[in-house]
Amino acid sequence: MPTESAFLFAGLLFLAAALGYVFARFGDSDEEDAEQSARTNFLRGFRYLLNEESDRAVDVFTGAGDLSDDAMETQLALGTLFRRRGEVDRAIRLHEDLVGRASSTVAQREAASFALAEDYLSAGLFDRAEALLVQLRSSRAHGMEALGRLLRICEVTSDWDRAVDLCAELNRAAPGRVSPSQLAHYYCELAEVARRDQLPDLAGEMVSQAEASEPAKVRTALIRADLDTASGRPAEAIATLARLGQAHPALLGEILPRLLVLSPALRGGPGVGQVIDQLAATPEGLRGIALGVIRDSRITEPQAVRYLVQFLAGQPALGELLAPGDGESGQSLARVQALRPLLHKILGAGARFQCENCGYGSAVMHWQCPGCRSWDTVQPVNSTVLAGILS
Ligand SMILES: [Zn+2]
Repeated sequence: MPTESAFLFAGLLFLAAALGYVFARFGDSDEEDAEQSARTNFLRGFRYLLNEESDRAVDVFTGAGDLSDDAMETQLALGTLFRRRGEVDRAIRLHEDLVGRASSTVAQREAASFALAEDYLSAGLFDRAEALLVQLRSSRAHGMEALGRLLRICEVTSDWDRAVDLCAELNRAAPGRVSPSQLAHYYCELAEVARRDQLPDLAGEMVSQAEASEPAKVRTALIRADLDTASGRPAEAIATLARLGQAHPALLGEILPRLLVLSPALRGGPGVGQVIDQLAATPEGLRGIALGVIRDSRITEPQAVRYLVQFLAGQPALGELLAPGDGESGQSLARVQALRPLLHKILGAGARFQCENCGYGSAVMHWQCPGCRSWDTVQPVNSTVLAGILS
């Protein structure tokens, strides 16, 4: 019984016929012979496709003589279909054949080169894809798409300097093509590389560029706080983290450990304890701190654990596990400490973060979704199990 893909290829055959490929226009007798030969070849090729003999079909198509415009279009589309079915080797053979044909026009060669670059990207052959895309960046038909694919290669290969340059090139060609948020992430990546390389001044410069591209970005603020912490500026780091915690209580799991590290370093000025008290004053802040404590078993500061007790005491399903009526007594604290490993296990049962675009779930925060490669779409979520227990 023919498969779905066989019907797909059959549809392509009829498309080719409708375009006038199979019943080509005849001229003198030599042309008639050539047309007849090409027609026979392609009919053989499609017959192989319908019989699921894809390799033999590709042999026939790539071995054909001169192709009409319609035949080239058909072969281009066929290669793309192979790529979408995951048969990248066959796509590459068909598209390479088109790129190498001396009779093709500039537009046809560019279309085939772009399709071939897409094949190479699918196969993870980034250097080959890049070589083609660089040639295509000045193409009127494919230049913007080529630059977009080059940007994707930079992301995959962590070539952030070049990514920044490509953003400028793309935005010059089409203003607004790359969002300020995406550009800010590239600067953040450069800042993190500089931090790892022990170059704090360069890291600070990159953070400033990120801030200039998109002000009030969560990631930039976290890196700024980390830089201030590492450079012995705890008051600045605490102020940044306090602002971040007020604006994004769901991210307190990321913020709280950073704050607690600063506690012993600060002498004078508003202390970490005061900031945590302020953050815990709202229901969202209290919940954020409590979940942060549950998630990070290294947090043992009594103040933070007391807020966990306070949060749990307000939960109908869990409050009864605490000593009734004794609030934050030593007995309650001891019971919560004993419960923490279990709560940690329950919280870890589901994804902590999920992409709003494609649904990709993960245990750690990603600024760029590993599933769909969108930026800023991965957001904190409650684990399904815990959501059933906590209100
Ligand atoms: Zn996604």
